[in-house]
Amino acid sequence: MPTSPKAPDEVTSDVPERVMVIGAHPDDPEFGCAGTVMKWSQAGRRIQYVLLTSGDKGSHDPDLRPGQLAAQREEEQRAAATDLGVERVIFLRHPDGLLQNTLELRRQLADLIRHDKPHIVMTIDPWRHYQLHPDHRAAGQAALDAIYAAREWYIFPEQLVGDVEPWRVKEVYLFWTGEPDYWEDITCCMEARISALTRHASQVGLRMEKLSERVYERAREVGEKAGCDCAEGFKRLVF
Ligand SMILES: [Zn+2]
Repeated sequence: MPTSPKAPDEVTSDVPERVMVIGAHPDDPEFGCAGTVMKWSQAGRRIQYVLLTSGDKGSHDPDLRPGQLAAQREEEQRAAATDLGVERVIFLRHPDGLLQNTLELRRQLADLIRHDKPHIVMTIDPWRHYQLHPDHRAAGQAALDAIYAAREWYIFPEQLVGDVEPWRVKEVYLFWTGEPDYWEDITCCMEARISALTRHASQVGLRMEKLSERVYERAREVGEKAGCDCAEGFKRLVF
């Protein structure tokens, strides 16, 4: 049984809010929430990405050597993140296509959360109906389970050494959700959003023009619900 839990550090108004974006693959943040990332980084929020795999299976080219695609995709992800004002990108390098919400992954993420103390986490909605990609389900679930673990004294207590303490994330924004209840007006950031997507040349190279149309179309559809030109929608959880 835990004894006399201490309150996690309080968020103070003079600290810029820290945001951790957790995705399964390089390009998930750009497809899922890049407009909001750009808007928030411009507003002074400090943003970091955590990618659970390096997307090493994201190609049908048999000539690519093992590791080559992962290195390329990490490079693409760093470039896109830099464009959007993201301060730091971390790759955990779990196997692409085989990601599982294991205790080990949860432990890794809880440790990152306890060290980096994000006020906000953005990740994939693991409960979206008919979400086929197992990595996307696993990434969202692992992120949420780690958020829960990070705030509890009795989970992974071996991490609580020195000045590392439990950390309570205040808000979660789930992207690719079927039940959005929060919208961010990203009209100002659409060009940056598209441009960041072009950084993922190994994934979008030949279909960029069509993709750009689709991204605009989708953002306008969401914008209609939000009462603005272009928007991104999220399921927002407040703790
Ligand atoms: Zn993905």
